[in-house]
Amino acid sequence: MSGTLPFPVVRVVEDVATEFGAELDVDVPLSGLTTLRLGGPARAMLTCRDTDTVAGVVRALDAARVPTLILGGGSNLLVGDAGVDAVVVRVANDAVTLGDALVTAEAGAVWDDVVARSIAAGLGGLECLSGIPGSAGATPVQNVGAYGVEVASLLRRVQLLDRASGQVRWVGPESLGLGYRTSVLKHTDTAVVLAVEFTVNSDGLSAPLRYRELAAALGAEEGERRPAATVREVVLGLRASKGMVLDPADHDTWSAGSFFTNPVVPDDRLPAVLGAIAARLGDGVRVPQFPADGGTKLSAGWLIERAGFAKGHPGPDGAARLSTKHTLALTNRGDASTAQLLALAREVRTGVQDAFGVRLEPEPVAVGCAV
Ligand SMILES: Cc1cc2nc3c(=O)[nH]c(=O)nc-3n(C[C@H](O)[C@H](O)[C@H](O)COP(=O)(O)OP(=O)(O)OC[C@H]3O[C@@H](n4cnc5c(N)ncnc54)[C@H](O)[C@@H]3O)c2cc1C
Repeated sequence: MSGTLPFPVVRVVEDVATEFGAELDVDVPLSGLTTLRLGGPARAMLTCRDTDTVAGVVRALDAARVPTLILGGGSNLLVGDAGVDAVVVRVANDAVTLGDALVTAEAGAVWDDVVARSIAAGLGGLECLSGIPGSAGATPVQNVGAYGVEVASLLRRVQLLDRASGQVRWVGPESLGLGYRTSVLKHTDTAVVLAVEFTVNSDGLSAPLRYRELAAALGAEEGERRPAATVREVVLGLRASKGMVLDPADHDTWSAGSFFTNPVVPDDRLPAVLGAIAARLGDGVRVPQFPADGGTKLSAGWLIERAGFAKGHPGPDGAARLSTKHTLALTNRGDASTAQLLALAREVRTGVQDAFGVRLEPEPVAVGCAV
């Protein structure tokens, strides 16, 4: 292999590819592997198409102290323009097994295929998570959620490669520290998810509807259940209207989904934040707020819009823009750089901080750059 990795690392990567049957590519532009379509090259990438290959490759690279980036669908990654000084391990084991009220997926399975196949097999429970891009293995990493459901409520167990011991074991969701868009797996190199298993229901009905907008679109009350296939179609329609279903032809979907998490404001800070909102927008303004662990959750999209950033900001000439459908998605209009997207992210974050005293935290994982 050519490339710019130091010679001993080149040898290690070639040997690892041969020993474990991984596909080796060099100087791979990560812009082609992320949904933001941003990011410079990876010096090398090993694509692992079965679970033993994923585990063997990661163990061997760890033993040789080669830095790695674990890659699924690239839909929650922001990669710097200079690329990554690491070997990318592309998790591409993708078998899916549908059992009696049980769905087991290898980590590299495309998440939305897992959802679609489970519903087609008459299993309900995952339908609200339809249309979320990326891999099954990444779903516990940030406890993906949408329309009132998080994977935390459905996960039965997760198969992990523990990178400190090299051992493979199944763990229950209680070991994962699952919270709002977070877990013990996010922002760490402690473990690789090899497979996930979900408890679903076999009556073909959805989980109880917990999201007002979705229930209303279905003509249902919150708490009711509907055929899972119907809920999936409505969720996909709602998501598409917000640019949240990948569509190569629609630049509003060249994103990492929501760029900022909804901020949770501690109780002692809430009066000052509500005061700042009232000072700017008037006393009568109704602020969307929801009880959450550690305080009150506010809507990041609402705050961004009220701080003066409209959909499509900064306008048609911006290479990086807010989505024209949703203020919470930062998008690449075709030829943006990561630096331009970062500049937009910082502008929005500073604007919200100055207006309301709330600091927004990015949801995607940044590699080779910092928001
Ligand atoms: C249009 C759009 C809409 C979205 N909507 C939602 C939504 O509604 N709800 C939501 O929660 N998210 C949403 N997202 C974010 C994203 O789709 C999810 O976070 C998804 O689970 C990321 O999966 P991935 O395979 O693409 O992960 P990647 O982007 O490849 O990786 C993300 C992080 O997880 C790590 N990782 C990936 N696979 C593994 C593994 N097997 N083991 C250990 N670590 C791993 C990576 O190293 C990286 O740190 C959206 C994104 C887009 C582009």
